[in-house]
Amino acid sequence: MSAKVLVSRCLLGHRVRYDGGASGPYDQLAKWQDEGRVIALCPEVAGGLPTPRAAAEIPGGQGVDVLSGRAPVITTDGEDVTAAFVSGAEQALELVKQHGIRIAILKANSPSCGNRLTYDGSFSGTKVAGQGVTAALLSAAGVQVFNELELAEAAHALADIS
Ligand code: SF4
Repeated sequence: MSAKVLVSRCLLGHRVRYDGGASGPYDQLAKWQDEGRVIALCPEVAGGLPTPRAAAEIPGGQGVDVLSGRAPVITTDGEDVTAAFVSGAEQALELVKQHGIRIAILKANSPSCGNRLTYDGSFSGTKVAGQGVTAALLSAAGVQVFNELELAEAAHALADIS
């Protein structure tokens, strides 16, 4: 059976981003879809948030701090959406376990999905090194997390485990 890959829904053209938009298309992701490898999830929508929704950031921390209860996820409206973000991350982890997934492609810079950078919580457009909530939980579980700019590396990693 082909190894599965967890993919952020917005990278598959699903209009689930906070602003109602999507990303893509990406040829590599389309190929994996054709091969039946893709398990799609938007952690924020899965966690119960609507689309469109207010942008959210993690003031005073990163995804790992949200998971340990040391930092919240707050929207531009001041709403605490921590529980929805954590729920979405836990659902991603369940899918990973269910399908034996070892590679994820998550949207760069998101407070849920960002694998290398997130915004700093000041809503000023400033990015800092760190992972979003879902990316942090999956990484801690041993999943290799790539973003949409790292699809070639992800393909090599998938070839190594297939
Ligand atoms: Fe959903 Fe992640 Fe895409 Fe945000 S970046 S819309 S949480 S899949």
